[in-house]
Amino acid sequence: MTPRSARRPLRVLISAGPTREPIDPVRFLSNYSTGYLGSCLASEALRRGHRVTLVSGPTTMPPPPGTQVVWVERAQEMQAVLRRQMPQTDVLIMAAAVCDFQVARPQRGKLPRRGRLRLSLKATPDIVGSLPRRQGQFVAGFALETSKALAHARTKLHRKRLDLIIVQHLPAPRSSRQAGVNGTGSPFGERPVQASLLDSCGNTKRLGSISKPLLSRMLFDEIEHRVGARASCLATPIRVLRAA
Ligand code: C5P
Repeated sequence: MTPRSARRPLRVLISAGPTREPIDPVRFLSNYSTGYLGSCLASEALRRGHRVTLVSGPTTMPPPPGTQVVWVERAQEMQAVLRRQMPQTDVLIMAAAVCDFQVARPQRGKLPRRGRLRLSLKATPDIVGSLPRRQGQFVAGFALETSKALAHARTKLHRKRLDLIIVQHLPAPRSSRQAGVNGTGSPFGERPVQASLLDSCGNTKRLGSISKPLLSRMLFDEIEHRVGARASCLATPIRVLRAA
């Protein structure tokens, strides 16, 4: 249960949706993110009386009424907006599916169709890892993993200086032909996901198959518990698998 003291309005900053990286003036690299998770998180925060700023990549998902929205496209734009918002933020939830690669030199003119094309890619900036922080701010991130999910998520939690990470377990596709298909088992959109929460004290809570609205409720229970009571561990351990 959330302590009363934690129910003060928080300034919540949520990044959501995909980012896009241009290849040329008409094409881009991106992913299947729909913005549904960001919308569930924003609705839950508003329901609890918090103030919400949503920094979203391009989606058709209508933001919940009452949300202040800043639309962005590229990872660098998202980074710049979040950097400006951080000083006025109590809680950052980094739910955006940031496109991890950008084309090293996007073309000014439209690339003609040809038999084979080589694109040179480089990593986009690690947004959450690069943001300035002040004491008392709470930062949560998300991760999608196909193998060794908990181990990889824990590495990201530390590398990106997160207080909490929600890992979504993805079944690896049975064949490479299925690899690029947004089908069954995809974490994007309105289907339930297989998720676990990991915190910076070394605790792990397996949530099993969970809808995004319910995941948002559980996440805000954790956040309010920690921000309000300054507690350092998971609020209501259903099943703590590993404690440091
Ligand atoms: O893509 P990855 O699994 O590394 O994402 C983990 C967390 O880092 C997520 O919260 C995501 O929003 C964030 N991220 C970021 N900058 C990137 C890639 C991911 O802040 N370039």
